[in-house]
Parts: sequence; structure tokens; C-alpha cells
Amino acid sequence: MSALSPAETPVVGRLAPSPTGLLHLGHARTFLIAWWSARAQGGKVLLRIEDLDSARSDPSLIAASMRDLEWLGLDWDEAPYVQSAGEERLQVAISELLARGLAYACTCTRGDLRNAASAPQLGVTEIRYAGTCRDRYPTLAAARASGRAAGVRLRVPDGALSFTDLVRGEQAFDVQSEVGDFLIARRDGVPAYQLAVVVDDAFQGVTEVVRGDDLLASTPRQIWLERALALSEPRWAHVPLVVDAAGRRLAKREDALSLAELRARGIDPRRVVAWVAASAGMPLSEWITPGEALPAFQLDALPSNQVSTTTAEFLR
Ligand code: GLU
Ligand code: ZN
Repeated sequence: MSALSPAETPVVGRLAPSPTGLLHLGHARTFLIAWWSARAQGGKVLLRIEDLDSARSDPSLIAASMRDLEWLGLDWDEAPYVQSAGEERLQVAISELLARGLAYACTCTRGDLRNAASAPQLGVTEIRYAGTCRDRYPTLAAARASGRAAGVRLRVPDGALSFTDLVRGEQAFDVQSEVGDFLIARRDGVPAYQLAVVVDDAFQGVTEVVRGDDLLASTPRQIWLERALALSEPRWAHVPLVVDAAGRRLAKREDALSLAELRARGIDPRRVVAWVAASAGMPLSEWITPGEALPAFQLDALPSNQVSTTTAEFLR
């Protein structure tokens, strides 16, 4: 946590969409709250397009996402930053962690991970890494010379790590016992999300991370990476997700709830903003722009429960 007061540290927030699907009401809510939080402190807002996963990213969705954000009335300072264009910087960070012995090469496949897990973990998408390759290869090159594809893992220290989330309160996670050493580069050489987000937040001078609470469990991994790279830790605020009428988290494939769809149907974006404002505890009833709503924003007032909606609510 920074020792400087907000008055001394310029606040920099960010919007970090992945161009893997259309933005929906859940994104609108998270991005509005991120924008309000930074702007309410007189801070900057940056846009970062997280397109490193080229198999899942669709370049046409970059422009589509920016159009959706602009339609909502959001803006950002500086040119949008496209993560893949800065991949060299991410590779440098990975090499540095390897050179300092803080990370190591791993040639395990998903099947290897499953076999090495001490207990059956059926249905669990994330398997704790048992540390199989910790002392196996002297270098990444040596691992690759074995003829197997090699990823890179961070050596995660033992013990719990705690942090304060501005929405969710005090959090404690033991990454080593829950997740183990995690990937910072995938086996195809692409920098992993955890590494990319940490290096790019630092590079862009981000002081405040406001994002969906599906990423809450990633935060302690990111803090270990920040410590390993001697980067300062931003403030964290994890915003509850928006769910549909059945209580399921909105997914990008449910296009009925996309912002593009609402726009195509002629919905006034100020209506979406007003709905987000109300759901964020702001005492506003009129249709409103993000800028008009700004004075009423208080991160403290944000309810920590999920909110639900349906597209129908906006079509009435
Ligand atoms: N790009 C990520 C997503 O769309 C968000 C990453 C972050 O905010 O740290 O889920
Ligand atoms: Zn391994």
C-alpha cells in the first residue's frame, strides 16, 4: 500500500477490456465504476486492450469495444494501449525473473498436472501446481532442448498474503497452498495474463485497479509478482458481477445483453448509466451521462452484493 496520500499521488485508473466478445451490461457497470472512481479523485483514465490471447481475440472487437465505451459516454486520456504491441516488455520481465531465479521453466502438460495432483480434483478448472519442475531445468533453453514446450512459473513464497479491497474489505489468500507456482508465460511462449496485467499496470502508471470480482482470486498472484519485480502495489477494488434473472453471471455469448444490441435498438445510453448509478448506490433517478453522475459517486456506497438485470428492463 502506498504511503503517499492521494493529494501527492496522481490517481491513474484504467479500463482493460479483452476483445474476446461483445461488451455487455456487466462490463458497462464495471467500466463506469472504474471511470467514476478515477475521475472523482481528479485522476486519469487509461484504456488498455488486452489482446494477448490471439486465439480468443478478434481484432474487429477492439473498435467495437471502443464504440460501446464512447456510446456510454466514457472517455480516456492518451491513445489506447494495445497489449500485444508491448509484448517485448513482458518478455523482458519474464527473462528478468528467470535470470534472478524467481521463476523457472516448466514442461508439464495439463495431463501431467492432473496426474501430479494429490487428490482427485474433478470439475475444478484450476489444479494446484505441485512444483514438479521447480529444480528440474537450469534454464528455459535447457527445458526447451528437452524437446517439450516449456512455460515459465513464478516461485510463489509460502504463507498467506493479505490486502485490502476497497469493496470487499480485508482479504487473505495462501497462493502457494491454493494455486502453487503459477504460469507467467504459457507453453506457447505467450506471456500469461497475470504477468501482463502487472507489468502493464506498472508501465502505464496505474495506481488504482477497479475490475470485476471474478478476478479477486488473481489479485494475490499479482501482488506476489509486483513484489518479485519490485513494483508498487495499486489500490484494489473488485466490483460485484451483474447476473441475469436466473442468477447466472452475464456472459459475452448472451448477445441479447450486449451494449451493441441495446444501441441497435435505440436505447438511450443515459438509461444504462442511470441503471448503473442506481445499482451503485447513487441517489439518482433521471437518465444521466457519466459526467453528470460523477459528483454523486462514492466508492464506499457501492453495495458488495451482485446485481441482476435483463435486457427487457431497458426495452420497456
Ligand atoms: N482484460 C480482463 C478482462 O476483460 C481484465 C483484466 C484486469 O482488469 O485486470 O477480464
Ligand atoms: Zn512442470
